[in-house]
Amino acid sequence: MMSDSIAAISTPLGEGGISVIRVSGMEAISTVDKLFRAQTKLSKAASHTVHYGHIVDGNDRVIEEVLVTIMKSPRSYTMEDVVEIGCHGGMVAVKQVLDLLLEQPHIRLAEPGEFTKRAFLNGRIDLSQAEAVIDLIRSKSDRAFSVALKQVEGTLSKRVANLREQLVGLMAHIEVNIDYPEHDVEEMTNRFIEEESQAVIDELNDLLRTAEQGKILREGIETVIVGRPNVGKSSLLNALARQNRAIVTDIPGTTRDVIEEYINVGGIPLKLSDTAGLRETEDVVEQIGVERSKAAFLAADLILIVFSASTPLSEDERELLNALNDRPTIAIINKVDLPMQIEKEELARWLPKDRIINMSLKQDLGVDQLEQVLTSIFFSGEMESHDLTYVSNARHIAELKKAKTNLQEAISATEMGIPIDMIQIDVRSAWEHLGEIIGDTVSDTLIDQIFSRFCLGK
Ligand code: GDP
Repeated sequence: MMSDSIAAISTPLGEGGISVIRVSGMEAISTVDKLFRAQTKLSKAASHTVHYGHIVDGNDRVIEEVLVTIMKSPRSYTMEDVVEIGCHGGMVAVKQVLDLLLEQPHIRLAEPGEFTKRAFLNGRIDLSQAEAVIDLIRSKSDRAFSVALKQVEGTLSKRVANLREQLVGLMAHIEVNIDYPEHDVEEMTNRFIEEESQAVIDELNDLLRTAEQGKILREGIETVIVGRPNVGKSSLLNALARQNRAIVTDIPGTTRDVIEEYINVGGIPLKLSDTAGLRETEDVVEQIGVERSKAAFLAADLILIVFSASTPLSEDERELLNALNDRPTIAIINKVDLPMQIEKEELARWLPKDRIINMSLKQDLGVDQLEQVLTSIFFSGEMESHDLTYVSNARHIAELKKAKTNLQEAISATEMGIPIDMIQIDVRSAWEHLGEIIGDTVSDTLIDQIFSRFCLGK
C-alpha cells in the first residue's frame, strides 16, 4: 500500500449536475471526516454507505452540501480506503472542497491515472485491464465501449494467461528432455513442440485479428466523402448525423487536441476529420481536382463515393474511380427517385456490385443498406486503420507479434534439428512477451508511461 493519500476531481471539468471528488489512501476517511459535518462520523460508518452532510472549512464555514460515499479497503477501486464526495454546486465550490482537502496533511493531488495505477499496483487489475480503462474513457462508439469493457473484465488477460500456461506446459516438457536426454523421447518432443507452438500461434493470430478491429473501433475509421457537386454529399452527411449520434471529442492533455467529429454508423465510428476539412472535401472533385482527391484517398480507411442517378457517369468521375486503387470503397448512387441515367453495369467495372448502393436521401432510402455493407466490410477485416495513436494497443499488438515470431522460430528450429535447449529459449521468450501484456514482466518506466496517459481523477 502507498503511504500517502491522493485526491482529485474524478468527473469531467466543466458545468454539470454533480461533480465527484475521489480520495484514496490510508488517511482518506479520517481526513474527510475532519471537514465533514453530518449525523454520522465517517470513521464509524460501515463500508459502502452514503452520507449526507456539509463540507466546512477551518472556520466552520459551509463550503458545499455533499453526499459522501465510503468504500473501505480492500473492497474499493484502488483496494485502499476510498471516499467519494459528490458535490452539486458549480466548479468553484468543487475546487474549494478540493483545495481544502489538499491543505490537509498526508494528502496530495493525484497524478493522472494514479487511482487506476494503485488498483494495478495493489493487484486488483492487471495492466491490460488498466489500459482498457483508458479506452473506456475515450471510447467513441457503443461497440468500442463494450470491447473496452470486456477487456476491463479481463477477457484479454484470461486468454493471454491461458496461452502462457500452455507455454509453461511446453517448457516443462522440453526441460524434462534437457535433463534426461537419454530418454528416447526426442522425436516425440519435437512433434510436441511443433504442435503446441502452432496451437498457440493460431490463437495469437486470432487475437491479432480482433486487436485490429478493436483499434479501428477505438480510433474511428478515417472516412472521406467524395463526388461531384450536387450529387448529395451534404445530404448524406446530414442523414448519417441525424440518425446516428455524432460525437465531438476534445481530449485535453493528449497529442490529439484537435476536434474530431465521429458519426456512429451501426456501432462503427466513422471519423470525419475536423469539420472545416470536411467542407473542403465536399466538393473535392470540382474545387481541388482529382490530384488532391487522390491524396485524400491515401489517408482514408474508407471512401464513400457518391453519384447522382439522374446523370450519366462523367469523365472526371471515371478518373476518380480509376484513382481508387483498391481502397475500401462504397459507391452510392443517390437520387434513385429520379429517372435512372447512370449505368450500374459500368460502375461495376470498378467496384463489386454489393458495394454499390442505391439510395434516395430525399425518400430516406438506402441508408440502412449502407450500414449493413459497412459492417460487413469492417468485420471481414479488410479495413485497417493506420493511425496508431493509442500506444497501449500498439503495445499489445507488438507483444503478440513478438511472441508469434518466437514460436515460429521455435518451429523452424525443430525442423532444422537445432538442439532443444536453444528452442527452449524461443519458447521462454514468447512466454515473456505475453507476460508483458498483462504486466507480469514489465518495467517501471513503461508502467509510468502507460498511467500518465490517463486523465486526472481516474
Ligand atoms: P452536394 O453538393 O454533393 O453536397 O449535394 P447536396 O447534398 O447539397 O444536394 C444537392 C441537391 O440534391 C439538393 O437540392 C438536395 O435536396 C438534392 N438531393 C439530395 N438527395 C436527393 C435525392 O435522393 N433525390 C433528389 N431528387 N434530390 C436529392
